[in-house]
Amino acid sequence: MYDVSYARVNAVPAAVDAFSKGDDPKYIAGGQTLIPTMKARLAAPSELVDVSRIEDLIGICEDGDVVIVGASTTHAAVNADALMNQRIPSVSALAGQIGDPMVRHRGTMGGSVANNDPSADYPAAVLALGATVRTDRRDILADDFFVDMFETALEEDELVTAIAFPVPKRAAYAKFPNPASRYAMVGVMVAELADGAIRVAVTGAGSSGVFRWTAAEKALAGSMDAQALDGLSVDADDMLEDLHGSGEYRAHLISVMTRRAVLAL
Ligand SMILES: Cc1cc2nc3c(=O)[nH]c(=O)nc-3n(C[C@H](O)[C@H](O)[C@H](O)COP(=O)(O)OP(=O)(O)OC[C@H]3O[C@@H](n4cnc5c(N)ncnc54)[C@H](O)[C@@H]3O)c2cc1C
Repeated sequence: MYDVSYARVNAVPAAVDAFSKGDDPKYIAGGQTLIPTMKARLAAPSELVDVSRIEDLIGICEDGDVVIVGASTTHAAVNADALMNQRIPSVSALAGQIGDPMVRHRGTMGGSVANNDPSADYPAAVLALGATVRTDRRDILADDFFVDMFETALEEDELVTAIAFPVPKRAAYAKFPNPASRYAMVGVMVAELADGAIRVAVTGAGSSGVFRWTAAEKALAGSMDAQALDGLSVDADDMLEDLHGSGEYRAHLISVMTRRAVLAL
């Protein structure tokens, strides 16, 4: 390891202030992505600002028909939370499928969303449910937040403080996990929102990260039935290709996982 300074802060303004004073700083939450990345020398920040213990960023609450998850809430806490289980069970079930117990007890929703790994699970839920990413300075709609793989609308020093999920009429997530890492080879969330809109978001497969499958949304708006998806497919040329699977394989999995999500609704 090379030299890096570390500061644990207990408030949002203190985090932003510490960040502004660094040479090449980075926020750290659960460290489940950042620490391995630093170990591999793919990132080399000079200062780490630890936001994982900021109390205002931990916990889940309700504001009318919106469930708000603090950015430093762990995946395990989302999975176990009674309110989330009652109001948006698809999100708590999704959280329970992330990685392994250690990853779930350290990793946070804010870290996952800010990182925007193309194989991460939460981006599918944030996009399908039309959630809002709240930061220390503004609210960003999901449709504007995810820009490309590992790229979001966040400014360099911007801190995610919470993710606000409107409670849907119903939603379901179907994931085909990579057998080794448990990351999504393909994960699809299908949601019927409170206003009746149908949204389908796909993670794990797109060469630009998470995306909405609008053709499936239109088909399911006509009939929320797996058969409505007959004959529909995504373009394999737009899919990720790696040692885990070809673009064609991932495109096929998207059709299968979308059907499974619809059947689970
Ligand atoms: C073995 C293994 C298996 C995994 N499997 C899965 C899986 O199946 N599905 C899945 O979705 N993920 C998986 N992950 C990733 C895991 O979910 C991480 O927890 C997540 O990607 C990052 O969260 P973190 O809190 O650890 O963030 P960190 O590693 O601390 O930070 C990640 C990035 O986000 C930034 N950041 C952190 N918090 C904030 C914030 N509040 N505001 C702005 N920027 C912030 C950091 O600067 C950094 O760039 C896996 C990880 C491992 C190691």
